Amino acid sequence: MAIIVTPEIKEIVKRYREIWTIRYSRSLLGWDMETYMPPAAFKERGEVNAVLESMVRRLITNPEFSSLVESAKPQNDVEKGIIRVLKRDLKYYTALPEEFLQEEERVKTEAFTIWREAKEKGNFSLFAPLLEKIVDLQRRKAEYLGYKDHPYDALLDLYEEGLTVRKCEHIFSTISKISHLFEKIKEKYPEKHPLEGMEYNRRFLERLIEYMLFTMGFDFSRGRIDVSPHPFTTNMGLYDVRITTRYEGRDFRRALMAAIHEFGHAMYEMNIDKELWATPVQQGVSLGIHESQSRFWENIVGRSSHFIDAFYKEMVVALPFLKDYGKDDLYTYLTLVRPEFIRVEADEVQYVLHIYLRYKIEKELIEGSLEVKEAPQTWDDLMEDLIGVRPPNDKLGILQDIHWAHATIGYFPTYAIGSMVAAHIYREIKGIAEGVKRADFGSIMNILREKIHRWGSVYSPEELLERAAGKKLDPENFIAYLEMKYLRF
Ligand code: MG
Repeated sequence: MAIIVTPEIKEIVKRYREIWTIRYSRSLLGWDMETYMPPAAFKERGEVNAVLESMVRRLITNPEFSSLVESAKPQNDVEKGIIRVLKRDLKYYTALPEEFLQEEERVKTEAFTIWREAKEKGNFSLFAPLLEKIVDLQRRKAEYLGYKDHPYDALLDLYEEGLTVRKCEHIFSTISKISHLFEKIKEKYPEKHPLEGMEYNRRFLERLIEYMLFTMGFDFSRGRIDVSPHPFTTNMGLYDVRITTRYEGRDFRRALMAAIHEFGHAMYEMNIDKELWATPVQQGVSLGIHESQSRFWENIVGRSSHFIDAFYKEMVVALPFLKDYGKDDLYTYLTLVRPEFIRVEADEVQYVLHIYLRYKIEKELIEGSLEVKEAPQTWDDLMEDLIGVRPPNDKLGILQDIHWAHATIGYFPTYAIGSMVAAHIYREIKGIAEGVKRADFGSIMNILREKIHRWGSVYSPEELLERAAGKKLDPENFIAYLEMKYLRF
């Protein structure tokens, strides 16, 4: 790893320390908000966040700082990465007027409250006026940010650098194959598995999860695991990366798989090269690459017979009812495939279908070929086409996700990229598949650290993947992975 040698870039990194510090603090505040913050603090905390965000904006757009960034002549890959990332920040903060961002904040706050109510009542028409405002704001945002071919491109790029509609169409060219595969695979599975109903001892499951994460490489001196209703990962710096899971009392795979998923996110951040500490490239490069790491550990490692072999003894100690079920039964339980209305409940086979549905609706809303009031009908029709079930109400349909209420249109496709990149890594990077087969977590982690994690945001997501795997993302790898895993027996 080349270090920072150019004097101007040393100066930039020195000045960036203030921005880094605010972002570090915001992460910790965000973690607290999702875990232990008392409910009445919500509004006050929102105020603090807004002020901190405008401080970041001020520091980045500060004329001295921005002209240093604009005129920098980077000498090596790390320096190029630093300037690439800062130019993206700079573009974001200069393209969007302060009034626009404030308006977006106001609409988001209102939308979140109304969405919650609409979802509770299963009534989309309550939320529709807010969604109209949000779509309008996002279309304006795309105009401010600029794009070449499609307004949705401007939004996609916010979450996945370089992503466009054209690239999404390539990724989703596999949709009909996935839909057919799902059709075939679901026939092999029971509708319900008895292990879903088994109650567990929470303390025992917590210890089991800690033991598994430690064995797979989680560094508890630089991280911790807590509980939150929606599991997530927060990274402050390289020395403080936190994950959460949730315990519902039964169906232990939910707590276990959520923890392994977040573990994958956390390891990416923990393994970033220490040389990059407190620089603009000290973080995972994109949501898609991040999600590939979580899905790799959750689905490819965690939902494998090799994983079960590696931990079966400990699992039976923590979950004594497993004595009545063999390893094969446990594998069926962990890889159950059946139609789900809810995205976050979906197995790895149908998951991308749920994302494609959202991608299609978002794209059409942004280009203006679909109206908000028609969206629930489109949603239900697509569900029926792709997954074979029709949601009985909007709560199980279009109102299920928080993303649109948060105005994050363009975010969903990164989940599909995560699944596809995970399969690409598994099939293309030498040594990974062997490591999975031997449940050799150390060797898997070493390869991922060297090829992906340590680079932080030095390379763009596409360049990073190409350097790591030797070729561009090939969505057929995902199909091949699913066929090998689910159609062999
Ligand atoms: Mg994730």
